[in-house]
Amino acid sequence: LSEMLEHEQNLPSVTPDGHEVPLMVNTGLAVDAAALLKSCIGGVGLYRTEVPFMITERFPGEKEQMRLYRSQLEGFAPLPVVMRTLDIGGDKDLPYFPINEANAFLGWRGMRVTLDHPEVLMVQLRAMLRASVGLNNLSILFPMVTNAEEVDDALRLLDRAIVELGEEGMAIKRPNVGVMIEVPATIYQMDALAKRVDFFSVGSNDLTQYLLAVDRNNPRVSGLYDPLHPALLGALQELSQDAQRLRKPVSLCGELAGDPAGALLLMAMGFTSLSMNAPSLPKVRAAIRRVTLSDAQTLLGEIMALDTPAEVHRHLERRFDEWE
Ligand code: PEP
Ligand code: MG
Repeated sequence: LSEMLEHEQNLPSVTPDGHEVPLMVNTGLAVDAAALLKSCIGGVGLYRTEVPFMITERFPGEKEQMRLYRSQLEGFAPLPVVMRTLDIGGDKDLPYFPINEANAFLGWRGMRVTLDHPEVLMVQLRAMLRASVGLNNLSILFPMVTNAEEVDDALRLLDRAIVELGEEGMAIKRPNVGVMIEVPATIYQMDALAKRVDFFSVGSNDLTQYLLAVDRNNPRVSGLYDPLHPALLGALQELSQDAQRLRKPVSLCGELAGDPAGALLLMAMGFTSLSMNAPSLPKVRAAIRRVTLSDAQTLLGEIMALDTPAEVHRHLERRFDEWE
């Protein structure tokens, strides 16, 4: 089977009834083997910039960051690369910037840190913009957004960076900008957010932990941590319908996208692309190439009528057995 899936690697992720769902890859390290996949993916759906920051001894400077970002952008050009601004806090601390909090996941995280430290965010934005000169494949993604004001503040900094670089002789047009939908509050602010940004990207790992109130890293409650919980599926369907009504692309870059059953349900909900870790690409591609959009929509209808996570899992297993 794995040989067969490998053979399919260069084929498009299209259903038998002709619906294409671009598959993208999540990256973190600068020299990433994922670049080898260039011929068979839609680009980078999530570049976690905090990953390279975790292996340095201090905040990398603008030039150093620019080199890192340039290698990502160049490695995948002309495909789009979605660069997420620093998402530290929660479970991701930098050794040179310790954040000690009792409730780290509800604390100083992502945009909350970088908006309190605009000097850090400005260096990062300037480095991303400079790295994109001549390539035009950069998109910028803001993590851990809770309200539209944070987006306004971040966009003001982005515009200031563009003006500064203009004054330094670099004409840069504003890249596409997106927000992560990972704090449940954002599900109810899609209209306000859509006025401000070009696309949405759902972080299902965090959305699961925040919607279900289950720490994503606590083994004691890991049985309750389930992105296929009916509440989460309901939230995902609603927000994807909102994104479609607002005519904004909506991607999902959490682990759920790398699960074949999850991917089919997301496709049926109308997600415009899915971003995952490279090892998940073959099995997700295979699922999409074998199941029609229409069958996936029927499945989604059946799933949405179920009451419990266990029923959802049982039903998916039954259908997948039939399809194999
Ligand atoms: C997520 O929350 O789903 C996500 C993609 O981001 P991270 O796992 O880095 O928090
Ligand atoms: Mg997240």
